[in-house]
Amino acid sequence: MIGYIYYILDLTNADMYIGSTNNIENRKRQHKQNKFNKCISKKIIENNNYIFEILEQNDFKDKNELHKREQYYIDNNKCINKLASFRSGDYRKQYKYEYNKSNKMKEYYKNWNEENKEKQIEYKKNYRINNKDKTKNYYEKNKHNFYRRVCCIKCKKELNLHSLKRHNNTYH
Ligand SMILES: [Zn+2]
Repeated sequence: MIGYIYYILDLTNADMYIGSTNNIENRKRQHKQNKFNKCISKKIIENNNYIFEILEQNDFKDKNELHKREQYYIDNNKCINKLASFRSGDYRKQYKYEYNKSNKMKEYYKNWNEENKEKQIEYKKNYRINNKDKTKNYYEKNKHNFYRRVCCIKCKKELNLHSLKRHNNTYH
């Protein structure tokens, strides 16, 4: 199965959403259909100043493999996908969106992390060993976006995209 990991990067605040799909054009359309979009990427789409880029295209055994790969990127990047667990279908996405900031979620998080600590460490370790080149490649391929010149919408200062978050937290 050909699968894709992609990101949507908000050029107004450097928020990044990471997602995966086996039908990239379809998924792109879904993100844009705001009425039906329950995904946490909604905020980025609403700001309407973003780039959509493919991080990786690969042949995956099944959806589960694809989601694990997606999770790897989520774990290793600053992104708005908060839930640190393997996804079990669309239900999780919806759940994640609705309960993102609730205490219930925090608790769930904590428990999950504790229960799966070793599994995660093991997975990350194996992943690093098996995908050393690929991971390096990703940073090389996407470096340019983080050095993109963008303009702060609040004070109009021009700066690098990767400094935008810090700038916002410090000055606004
Ligand atoms: Zn500013």
